[in-house]
Order: sequence, then structure tokens, then C-alpha cells
Amino acid sequence: DFIQMFVRRLRGEDQEEELVIDYATKDVNNMTLKMPYQCFINGKFEDAEDEKVYNTINPTDGSVICKVSYASVGDVDRAVAAAKDAFENGPWGRMNPRDRGSLLYKLADLMEEHQEELATIESIDSGAVYTLALKTHVGMSIQTFRYFAGWCDKIQGKTIPINQARPNRNLTFTKREPLGVCAIVIPWNYPLMMLAWKSAACLAAGNTLVLKPAQVTPLTALKFAELSVKAGIPKGVINILPGSGGMVGQRLSDHPDIRKLGFTGSTPIGKQIMKSCAVSNLKKVSLELGGKSPLIIFGDCDMDKAVRMGMSSVYFNKGENCIAAGRLFVEECIHDEFISRVVEEIKKMKIGDPLDRSTDHGPQNHKAHLDKLLEYCEVGLKEGATLVCGGRQVDRPGFFMEPTVFTGVEDHMFIAKEESFGPVMVVSKFKDGDVDGVLHRANDTEYGLASGVFTRDINKAMYVSERLDAGTVFVNTYNKTDVASPFGGFKQSGFGKDLGEDALSEYLKTKAVTVEY
Ligand code: NAP
Ligand code: MG
Repeated sequence: DFIQMFVRRLRGEDQEEELVIDYATKDVNNMTLKMPYQCFINGKFEDAEDEKVYNTINPTDGSVICKVSYASVGDVDRAVAAAKDAFENGPWGRMNPRDRGSLLYKLADLMEEHQEELATIESIDSGAVYTLALKTHVGMSIQTFRYFAGWCDKIQGKTIPINQARPNRNLTFTKREPLGVCAIVIPWNYPLMMLAWKSAACLAAGNTLVLKPAQVTPLTALKFAELSVKAGIPKGVINILPGSGGMVGQRLSDHPDIRKLGFTGSTPIGKQIMKSCAVSNLKKVSLELGGKSPLIIFGDCDMDKAVRMGMSSVYFNKGENCIAAGRLFVEECIHDEFISRVVEEIKKMKIGDPLDRSTDHGPQNHKAHLDKLLEYCEVGLKEGATLVCGGRQVDRPGFFMEPTVFTGVEDHMFIAKEESFGPVMVVSKFKDGDVDGVLHRANDTEYGLASGVFTRDINKAMYVSERLDAGTVFVNTYNKTDVASPFGGFKQSGFGKDLGEDALSEYLKTKAVTVEY
């Protein structure tokens, strides 16, 4: 089942070396996928130290795609040592920033050349609808690398007028330096895009990294590793370790040679990571955590747009979307019309094989997640919310769930407070004209990732966007993220931004140099 391939590689120091990759192959979507499945350490694909493996699953039918190496603590230590050596002694650290940028542009070009293969792998490993995987999961990943490649030679300090030690003169200037070895730990909802959001900024800043993809979706990260070799990124700069959070992720949090950990995932694990990072060596952390983002729809909205975007705010990527609207507040005067139009549109959604170009809604990412979602809906019913449609598993193989709508959701209910991370619309009414009342309810959560408002009244839009306590506010749109715009949460949705100029600062430290002359 595995074939051997040889890829010529040009190293930073002009010495050519053969990279041997043992691929898992699969004929699917009119192409032959060639998927690396081993740990990627110091520029080489190799088995985990103890040769352990596990199976990665296709959620469309529950079948095994291939086996994947299951990294151990020893593999983490080897990867960190390689990243440290690459940072301290390798060509990466000595390279001109502009040359570093060229390598990242090259990597983005290679990702684009392989976009169909990457999107297909993403689709079978995570259940992402292929058309969406191509545009968002892979498309935005490419854009992210291009965006940050452009930053490499624009990372500048300041000259600062300080008090002079007369008769002498003084000048302070600042330099922005990379942190060293960084760890990145990511979830399974956008496997390649989460990698890109963090790795691109991290690499542009000049760091080296060790990344752990989610156990259930390791394949695009490993394909990315292969492309990074082809792009000429020196060995040890990027290391990818498939494996468990409890072991690999925990060791990364504890490791004394790592200076920063970038994490996207759940709030409880984020807290655990921050604690470990503090106790071990006070490594810097940034945390993109859970959300329960409110979307407020006023009676004076553009109804067609509110219906369309209200739906995508919930059902985009089968609801496995960190900024998904976790709660919709709809003004009483349009509530019933809004719901009936949403239900009409849901009937038109095509549920099916994510590789089919006409599919709108694919399977949930993995079995345990589907089970959690079905339980979530049962709790909603028990608490007395009205199930308007959905709430069940689709009667077909794989892990499909019906797009679901709950109305009459009251503030104290579990489904009003807890994130589902699935295709579940949670709707509450608010009294006509009660702007402050709905704002109070929208902010009454420990999360603060995203939020949205639909209204044609610019004054109301500005007022609401000022008062919503969330890192992102969408006005008359939703899910409109862009590589140039900072992304990240408030409160227990974490801190530290991905994307935009702000993301670079997460991976830099400032040195002040003071001169007397
Ligand atoms: P999770 O359980 O927190 O897992 C995320 C990652 O952390 C996985 O790679 C996981 O490994 C790893 N991990 C688990 N335990 C760890 C430990 N002790 N130390 C270090 N790493 C550890 O999250 P999830 O349930 O898979 O993902 C869904 C959550 O992510 C949702 O709550 C969602 O809101 C959040 N999310 C947030 C954003 C954002 O940008 N704010 C984006 C996407 C998702 P395993 O693979 O072994 O589980
Ligand atoms: Mg999978």
C-alpha cells in the first residue's frame, strides 16, 4: 500500500540530499493522493521512536484512511532539539529577512500548486466540503503565508528620545527579535488553516517551530511538511508531530527549551496549557479558545441578507467554526418570519459526500463529536426549548447530522450558555426596540470571541458594535475573516491575536539598546 518516492532537496548550505518519503496513497476525487504519515523531525519523515501508530478516519463513511505515527515524549524532545539547533546554528537564523520572505512565498506557491490535493486530503480527513476546503481551508492558508511572507523584511523597531546624561548624549533604539523555538497546538475544525494562521506569523518573525495537529486530522499538516522541504525551508525549522494532546501537547507545554506556545482549542485545555507554561519556564502563550458568539438581528435589517448570513453564521463548515454564532437574538417583530425562512432554506441544503461538488453540508469531523452534538440537542429538548427541525443523526453511513434549529431558548438553559461547535441554531427572541436589554443578554457570557449585528440603522449598528464585548464584531455580515485583520477573543475566549500585524507581535520580543556617546 505504501510506495517509496524520492524528492531532491536543496538545503540551505548548497548540499543536496535525498528525502525519502514513505507515502500512504489513495485514489480519490480523480487523483492519486500521496500522503506522508510519519513524524516530521529535522527535515525527515520517520516513525515514532517506539514505532507506535494509530488510524485516521474518514468521517464520510467511518473508513480508515491510513495509519499515522503516534509520537512519543522522546520524539518531542528530538524535535525540540532540532528546532533549537536550527534556530541557533542553522542558516534560518543567519538568513536575511527578505530571503526568509522568499522562502515563505515559495512555500505558498507550492501549496497553491498542490491545492487540489491538499483540499482533497482535508476533505477526507475532516469531512470538509471540498469546494469549501479549496476556497477556505486551503485558499486562506495560502493567503496567510503570502501575507506574512510580505512582513518578513518589514519588522522594524523604533528610535526613542530618552533623557540625556549631560554632557554626554544618549539614544535608545529597539529591535524586534524572534523568540526561539515555538510550539503550536491546534484543533481539528480547520486543520491546515489553523496551522497556517499560527505557523506563518511564527516563521515570518524568524522562529523555528514544533507543531502538533489534532489527533483526528493529521494529514494536511504532514503534506504541508513535505511541501516545506520542497520550498527549501532548512531542516529543523518546521517539525510536525502527530499524536495526543495529553502526551505530545503536554510535553510541549512543559518543555524547558520552548519559549512560546500558540494554542487554539477549548477553554479548559487552554487553562491547563497556560498553567504548565507558567510552571515550567514561564513561556509566553497565546490562546484562541471557545466561543458562544451572539448575533443580534433587528427588525430593520435586510431580511434576505440576515437569513442567508444568519444561516452561514451557524452552518458554515457544519458548525465546526470557532466564531460560529452560538446564539441568535431576533427582534420579536420579525422572529416568526425569520424562522420560517430559515427552515425553508434548510430544506434546500444538500447533505452528502463532501467530495460531491453540489454538497452543502458534510459529515461532522469525528464520531465522538457527533455523539456530543446529539446529546447537546437532547439536553435542549429536556430543558424545554422548541426543536423546530433537525436534532438527529442522518440515516446514512458516516457521521452526518441534520441542520438543527431551536427556538424559545431561555437565558438559563444549557444550550444558551454552552458552545455546541455543530450545526445547531439557538434562537431567542427579544422585545421590540429593547437594544440595551438584548446587549446585556448578549454580553452575559464568559466568552468573547466574536459577535454580529444586522440592522440598516447606522447609529444602532455603531452603538451595538461599541458595546458588544468581543474580539470581533461583524456588522451586516458574518464569518468575514481576512488575513490582514486581527483575530482573537476577549474574556475566557483567550488572548493574543492571529492574523494581521498584531499576530507578528505574538512571536517577537522587543530589545531596547541604549547608547551613550
Ligand atoms: P481541545 O480538546 O482543546 O484540543 C485542541 C488541541 O489541544 C488538540 O490538538 C488536542 O490534542 C490538544 N490537547 C489536548 N490536551 C492537551 C494538553 N493537556 N496539553 C496540550 N495540548 C492538549 O479542543 P477540541 O475539542 O479538539 O476543539 C474544539 C474547541 O476548539 C472548541 O471549544 C472551539 O471553540 C475551539 N476552537 C477555537 C478556535 C479559536 O480560534 N478561538 C478555533 C477553533 C476551535 P488531541 O488531538 O489529542 O485532542
Ligand atoms: Mg479524520
